Amino acid sequence: MITVEEASSIIQSNLFKPREISVPLDQCNGMTLAEPIHADRDFPPFDRVMMDGVAIASKSFYSDQRNFTIEGVQMAGMPQLTLNDPSKCIEVMTGAVLPKNTDAVIRYEDVTIENRVVSINSDTVESMQNVHLQGMDSAKDTVLIRNGTKISTAEIGILATVGKGEVMVYAPPKVAIVSTGDELVSVREIPKEYQIRQSNSHVLKAALMGMGIEATIFHIIDEQAQMNKAMDKIFTEHDVMILSGGVSKGRKDFVPEVLNELGVKKLFHGVKQRPGKPFWFGTREDNKTVFALPGNPVSTFMCFYKYIKPWINASLLVKEKAEFGILNEGFTFDKPMTYFLQVKVSNVDGQLIATPVQGQGSGDLGNLLLADGFLELEQTVSNFSKGKVFPFIRYRSA
Ligand code: AMP
Ligand code: MG
Repeated sequence: MITVEEASSIIQSNLFKPREISVPLDQCNGMTLAEPIHADRDFPPFDRVMMDGVAIASKSFYSDQRNFTIEGVQMAGMPQLTLNDPSKCIEVMTGAVLPKNTDAVIRYEDVTIENRVVSINSDTVESMQNVHLQGMDSAKDTVLIRNGTKISTAEIGILATVGKGEVMVYAPPKVAIVSTGDELVSVREIPKEYQIRQSNSHVLKAALMGMGIEATIFHIIDEQAQMNKAMDKIFTEHDVMILSGGVSKGRKDFVPEVLNELGVKKLFHGVKQRPGKPFWFGTREDNKTVFALPGNPVSTFMCFYKYIKPWINASLLVKEKAEFGILNEGFTFDKPMTYFLQVKVSNVDGQLIATPVQGQGSGDLGNLLLADGFLELEQTVSNFSKGKVFPFIRYRSA
């Protein structure tokens, strides 16, 4: 058996190699950019009027001229006009090109207009006032967004501005969620006395969808030949298989054996942790990855957030922020393994205070309702006293 740290390190050294695909702009939110985004022109692309008002040549104002006859109107979306007579002015609208031979915009609020003559009421006029200069935000060809950035609404605005109707992104892996077990029935069925509904599949699917990843749910019974056939088929259509159940020492725990038959190389089986000890991880040469999680609902839950989510993010170059919580009550656990303690957190002056909410072990799904995440009580630490700081693995957003 290996430690949690070793398990994480093996998983992180076996990342998925995503394909690069082109998707329409309106479908790329939440995905990772697979190309750098350059300014296709200066931003703004021309000296842009920032206020509705009038544009003048400021030198006329400095020669003490205060009244200017309107020579024309420069609307937004119109080619640039020219001020032919510097003693006159041009009315300008926000978003318009600054007319040639003018260099200052005076707001309507600071002028009076009568019979097409503008009188300026303000005492000063500065050259380029109320003008957003060409290239001021960024010059043509500047890198605006780096490759590997996770796209959010802010990035969408830039992508649209530079004309990216199609965007190169890293394709998320195709994931199969496979529950194994003869006792499992689907959510919509009424279980017999000795059966249970397969909740793990839906937890995993929802967690993946929260990351923008589609997943398909499968159920396989505990029969070796059937399991081999079903998994073989699932592999042809998916990059990643997340299994729940069938990896412990039970008579019908065939998962490791079947994965071996299918050419998946075991990278570890068994992690010194509670819950989730029988966790199995392996890869196949054709860029397939298998996370075989123990079926206990809390084990599945914890293993997803501790191992699979960071693996997906790292594979798609998404950076994660580590969080830490301060243990709010002393806790005793003396086995030589890492304990994942369910905690409720509260933010006090920017620090996370983590209060344990103890349940009945790894089958107790209901307890997860009371907690926000797991505090990772590392194996190397022997004293879990109040006030100590530990890594916090969040499943409920703040
Ligand atoms: P196993 O890892 O197959 O030994 O299963 C451990 C426990 O988890 C058993 O009580 C199973 O019934 C339960 N279990 C397995 N798969 C699921 C699932 N998809 N949803 C809920 N419980 C499950
Ligand atoms: Mg089972």
